Amino acid sequence: MTKDDFGYVRERMISDLRKRGICDERVLDALRLVPRHRFVRDQFLSKAYGNYTLPIGDEQTLTQPWVVARMSELLAVEPTHRVLEIGTGSGYQTAVLARLARWVFSLERIGDLAKAAVGRLQELEIDNVKIGHFDGTVGWGEAAPFDRILVTAGAPKVPKPLLDQLAEGGILVLPEGGRTQQKLVKYRRGAKKIRRIECEEVGFVPLIGRNSWTS
Ligand code: SAH
Repeated sequence: MTKDDFGYVRERMISDLRKRGICDERVLDALRLVPRHRFVRDQFLSKAYGNYTLPIGDEQTLTQPWVVARMSELLAVEPTHRVLEIGTGSGYQTAVLARLARWVFSLERIGDLAKAAVGRLQELEIDNVKIGHFDGTVGWGEAAPFDRILVTAGAPKVPKPLLDQLAEGGILVLPEGGRTQQKLVKYRRGAKKIRRIECEEVGFVPLIGRNSWTS
């Protein structure tokens, strides 16, 4: 495929996402700006813009575009926001968030994945992202509070430190449920209480750490 072919298939991905109900124009523009093929392994290049979950090594996966778009939409990121992401993986969702937010802090527990993601984001000259290599279930205390928090691995329930690091008025989205099947859940922190809304069914790899699955 040539570069132009990728431009064409990327536009097709955007119109597919619209047909499947994604309507936030800022989110669609962010997905239009990020070259997803740069985040996939060579053998999956032809699938880069299809609605597939793709292997990225270490038994981890790159999330399919519809789920990336839906989570970004639920998160309602604004240009002034500081966002915390747990589960950098390939760095694709990180790059999308970087187009929507002021700063993105992203944590990955697997060193090789974190390193590869840093390299990809540098190549794309995305300079408003900080990637950390440690257990994201404890959050990122020094950089808190965050306006938005996105977890891209499945947890049995929301890790408490993440809710504690959410600013007032902030939103946290994560897949909550079993080891392979979960529901996207949106939390919004009010002045006095935290609201919880259940959304679509999803299938993420497990969130492994001190405040989630232990292995
Ligand atoms: N958003 C990524 C999805 C990666 S899959 C992408 O689109 O490429 C989920 C990632 O979460 C995996 O890379 C996994 O290693 C990571 N992960 C799991 N538990 C974690 C934890 N406690 N802290 C940080 N990262 C974690």
